[in-house]
Amino acid sequence: MRDFACSHCGQQLAFENSVCLSCGSPIAYSLTDRNLIVVGDTDGVVDADTFRMCANLHTARCNWLVDADDPSDLCASCRLTRTRPSDDDAEAMEAYADTEDAKRRLVVELTELDLPITGRAEDPTGGLTFDLLSSRFSPVVTGHEDGVITIDLAEGDDVHREQLRVSMDEPYRTLLGHVRHETGHYYFTVLVDDPEKLKRFRELFGDPDTDYQAAIDRHYSEGAPTGWEDDYVSSYATMHPAEDWAETFAHYLHIRDTIDTAAAFGFAPAGATLDRSQPGPAGFDRLIELWLPLVWSLNMINRSMGHTDLYPFVLPGPVLEKLEFVHELCTATA
Ligand SMILES: [Zn+2]
Ligand SMILES: [Zn+2]
Ligand SMILES: [Zn+2]
Repeated sequence: MRDFACSHCGQQLAFENSVCLSCGSPIAYSLTDRNLIVVGDTDGVVDADTFRMCANLHTARCNWLVDADDPSDLCASCRLTRTRPSDDDAEAMEAYADTEDAKRRLVVELTELDLPITGRAEDPTGGLTFDLLSSRFSPVVTGHEDGVITIDLAEGDDVHREQLRVSMDEPYRTLLGHVRHETGHYYFTVLVDDPEKLKRFRELFGDPDTDYQAAIDRHYSEGAPTGWEDDYVSSYATMHPAEDWAETFAHYLHIRDTIDTAAAFGFAPAGATLDRSQPGPAGFDRLIELWLPLVWSLNMINRSMGHTDLYPFVLPGPVLEKLEFVHELCTATA
């Protein structure tokens, strides 16, 4: 993610800001410009004839702009959501807004990577869409099927999510991690689109058509196999080749976004940013060369504050090979 500043007063801004906390100017994010801009008709700004605010400004804390001539009143991120809780479910609406926050970060990164984001309007049976559902009254299973990503909004509750994280012995569990992982399942169908790529997928991850229910049953009765750390990025990735792919895809997004942010703040060279796709094996080697010392230092910084590691994962050779395959596929479309 980039570093932003108010064009009116120079105050540093965060991606989520809808108002400048220093001068009070209304702020909005333009996906086209990948920038936060002052909305209004003073200097250096967007005027209301060109853009409108997304209709979800208050419901989802969305600070994104919509082109004035766009028939939708929702921004490029909000329009990907097909189902959301009802306005009178205050608890679920809060979790919905948190999930949309994470999704906006996801959409920016997918756009930076130039990955196609095909919605349901363009592809009614396989396009990407989100059902953000509360499991308070009926069960909801977080997952992906034919482009539809379902998120259980109970995950928006920090206490609940942390309890799950500890009970499942996971080192990391966040909403952003969830949307990156589930989107990985969608991009499997988009990116692994010919027999050659599928052949390579099978070599690295295994058979994507392995019986899924049997894999779940085995995982939750026996746990991850001993020594899984040598071949997988997480214990969850051991469950099924499709889960290994989704976990690896999520890690690729974690790594690229974190390097991008580090570069924006001078902790990594400017050439490492997402606006350069860094294609090919040399590009991948370069990313890993930047990533390993960066994440080591970030982990040590967290420990200085008494926190657990920022990135509590190791990347053994087989995981790097899988990440490189994701890299090849993501940068080939750029
Ligand atoms: Zn300002
Ligand atoms: Zn929006
Ligand atoms: Zn999954």
